[in-house]
Amino acid sequence: MTGRNEAEGQDALGDWRRTHGCGELGPGHEGQEVTLMGWVHRVRDHGGVRFVDVRDRTGLVQVVFHPEREPAFGRAAGLRAEFVVGLKGRVALRPSGLENLALPTGRIEVHADQLRVLAPAQPAPVAVDEGAQVEEELRLKYRYLDLRRPSKLRALDIRQKSTAAVREYLSSQGFWEVDTPYLTRSTPEGARDYLVPSRNSPGMFYALAQSPQLFKQLLMVAGVDRYFQIVRCFRDEDLRADRQPEFTQVDLELSFGAEEDVMAVTEGLMAHLFRRVLGREVRPPFPRLTYAQAMDQYGTDKPDLRFGMTVFDLGPVLGDAGVEVFRRAVAEGGVIRGLKVEGGAAKLSRSKLDELSRLAGGSGLGGLSWLSPQGGPSSHLARFLDAETLAAVARAGAGGPGDLFLVAAGPRPQVSAAMGRVRLEVARLLDLIPDGPLEFLWVVEFPLLEPDPDRGGFRAVHHPFTAPRPEDLQWLQSDPLRVRARGYDLVLNGVELGSGSVRNHLRGVQEQVFLALGLSPEEQEAQFGFLLEAMDYGAPPHAGIALGFDRIVMLLAGEHSLREVIAFPKTATAACLVSRAPARVSPRQLEELGLELRRPTQAGAAPAGGGGPGPG
Ligand code: ASP
Repeated sequence: MTGRNEAEGQDALGDWRRTHGCGELGPGHEGQEVTLMGWVHRVRDHGGVRFVDVRDRTGLVQVVFHPEREPAFGRAAGLRAEFVVGLKGRVALRPSGLENLALPTGRIEVHADQLRVLAPAQPAPVAVDEGAQVEEELRLKYRYLDLRRPSKLRALDIRQKSTAAVREYLSSQGFWEVDTPYLTRSTPEGARDYLVPSRNSPGMFYALAQSPQLFKQLLMVAGVDRYFQIVRCFRDEDLRADRQPEFTQVDLELSFGAEEDVMAVTEGLMAHLFRRVLGREVRPPFPRLTYAQAMDQYGTDKPDLRFGMTVFDLGPVLGDAGVEVFRRAVAEGGVIRGLKVEGGAAKLSRSKLDELSRLAGGSGLGGLSWLSPQGGPSSHLARFLDAETLAAVARAGAGGPGDLFLVAAGPRPQVSAAMGRVRLEVARLLDLIPDGPLEFLWVVEFPLLEPDPDRGGFRAVHHPFTAPRPEDLQWLQSDPLRVRARGYDLVLNGVELGSGSVRNHLRGVQEQVFLALGLSPEEQEAQFGFLLEAMDYGAPPHAGIALGFDRIVMLLAGEHSLREVIAFPKTATAACLVSRAPARVSPRQLEELGLELRRPTQAGAAPAGGGGPGPG
């Protein structure tokens, strides 16, 4: 049988309306007449009766068709997976022994009286089945089928609950949701812009907003006082697993406040989100580390506090222990740092240690040394040290029998980076990271500027509108790298959730920061004249933050990829496989925009998806 004879045409729905979602039914509905609609999940013919599992966003229910209920029974024979159906029937308890307790509706079934096929369906190219292993490229191409899977719909459900919770909380705190333009001019947030040619002004371009930063600051000048937005941002960056070219931020800004006010609102927001969406309690205030502490103790500015294993200083113990690499590291102004692996002497094999050493080498060090004061994998290093020094190492790291010490020496930034990577890798190898805890923290006192390897000079660590700490302002021109910023990052379980800062609200300070960034007064005027001018008309002190909403939803949903919590995500080459964007446009469209392609794409060459090269 084909599906064709069952399809009732465009008006199949008629006056039927659902009474329940498929997944909402339970023993409490026994005996009730219900009308359900959804997709056929599976059809089973058990000689005599036909079982059809019907699925909608609320879940799945077993429907039974009996031979004496024609024409429904006959029609059921024509059903195939993913047909869209409507049915009327009565809820009954399943016969005892036949319950399926793994299924929320598994104690009941629906005995169908009437069936309507609302739409037939071709065999799906992507199985709508949780267990199915389907290549991601195919899943993204048929994302509307992929999304039918309960786990995918659940991620969107969590996203919806999160959006609602953000609006609920921030509205309750007096924040106004204000839209800001997507089509704007290029602002330096550090990434490449997506450009949009202007038809009205040939040769001119908009940039898609990398963030609403300048507009939200102007809203403060306007007296909006407390602003927020759940906003799309666009950055043309090379993509990694945890990046998307368009992503969503919870962006907020407040006037007449500073660090403490933004942190308190953000902590309240996180507590509200986790309570509302997961029913979990999060207890502010979150701990704080300075950037220098985070780098020294965890080797990263986004430490994962779910496990200990902090990096400690071995300079005083090993600096003059007679080992050349250590002596040189200290003489050249570097550091010697250790990491204690509890019980590591027995748990880390020689080859694992070699791997860790290579990992450390990736951060620009010669490698790692290791030693185990009470015996363990043979170590070059131990041979050079006397018993007293070995004991001092153990004391410095609070080590006991069986512990192993990993040691790195060299310039401070490289040692920090190496120790950060090694710490995470050891934790992964030894399974030290518990799943359950939510370890939030703030990282504060970031440097304002860092060397710019591309252009020379300096660039902003956060962005150019971040205020320097007032006590450091004196060094802005003479010793710029010494200046600390009034910025703060929110970190959860080793993931950066967001960053923000107190802003420059006085023109003079903003101009000094621009100057330290190498922008001449003329360049400042050309790029940021409108911001500087606004400051002439009375800008209140203000501060804010932006939180990566996709990442937050990803953590709330327990997913490991941003793509799982975005309805229509882009691939690693920034392609949308559903709509096949980016795509060529017609010569006429180019003409209207006054554009000519220097290297026209080859006729017929489809834009790449998946891992292929990007469009030419
Ligand atoms: N606009 C900044 C960003 O997107 C966040 C902020 O400073 O509020 O990173």
